[in-house]
Amino acid sequence: MNSWHTDYHSPNRGLSFEINESQYRESSPYQTIEIVQTPEFGKVMLLDGVLMLTEKDEFVYHEMLCHPSLLTHPQPEKVLIIGGGDCGTLKRVLQHPAVRKAVQVEIDEMVSRVAKTFFPQLYEASQDPRAELRFEDGIAYLKDKASEFDVILVDSTDPVGPAEGLFRMSFLADCHKALKADGILCLQSESPWIDALQPIIRQVHLDLSSLFPIVKPYTAAIQTYQAGLWLFQMASKQFSPLLLEPERLEAISRLDCRYYNSGIHTAAFCLPEFVQQILR
Ligand code: SAM
Repeated sequence: MNSWHTDYHSPNRGLSFEINESQYRESSPYQTIEIVQTPEFGKVMLLDGVLMLTEKDEFVYHEMLCHPSLLTHPQPEKVLIIGGGDCGTLKRVLQHPAVRKAVQVEIDEMVSRVAKTFFPQLYEASQDPRAELRFEDGIAYLKDKASEFDVILVDSTDPVGPAEGLFRMSFLADCHKALKADGILCLQSESPWIDALQPIIRQVHLDLSSLFPIVKPYTAAIQTYQAGLWLFQMASKQFSPLLLEPERLEAISRLDCRYYNSGIHTAAFCLPEFVQQILR
């Protein structure tokens, strides 16, 4: 008999989906991971009951977290990923030929170990000789870094538990310090439809705007994420995503994407009025 799971987006709304079977469940000191097989989304990873990624649509989030920044930076040789233990972001980072080193700092090695079994199509990126996987707190990792990275991508869970500090000014300032003089930071910034998250979205935007000269939020439609609309915030020391050279836009077609393309690169930065009001 199939069961159903509800991924609560707030106490009184969520996404419900049918489950064929629960394939794995384990708890680490940080969270409980569960892998379920579903008729609609294929395999689904849940962390503490929250939907993290699905076989069916993980490409949307990972393409949109990674590619806009790695195309905006003219020479993204050294990239840092905070979180991202499933390696979906890492897989997209390594599609860029300019990348010589991709360091992934994930606090919970359980996530990567489970991804190796259940999402090998993502985890395989960790075998690339340019990839370095580290299992430690991204907040502590960044404390002593200065002018080291071209791009930093924050692929975190929601702002609770170990991820709460990844939304704070002190961490954003450490990211700014760890970036080279023309570096770019991009972070997943939750759903603008969820009322409880709007203050933190606004605060992150204000903090980024106090640190970086160019701050460009953008959106993606992610059917399995909270309320189906996701926000990202790109903060850049020098390059604007809206001023890409034509050849950079053309390079997008060589990335073999299923969501991101040159039109999306431009349109994603056009924000609905209610989102602009949240950020003001
Ligand atoms: N990439 C997936 C997706 O498609 O949305 C989900 C994001 S990934 C699973 C989020 C990761 O952030 C989790 O594996 C979690 O352990 C990690 N994380 C949370 N806080 C962290 C911290 N302070 N330092 C490093 N990693 C952290």
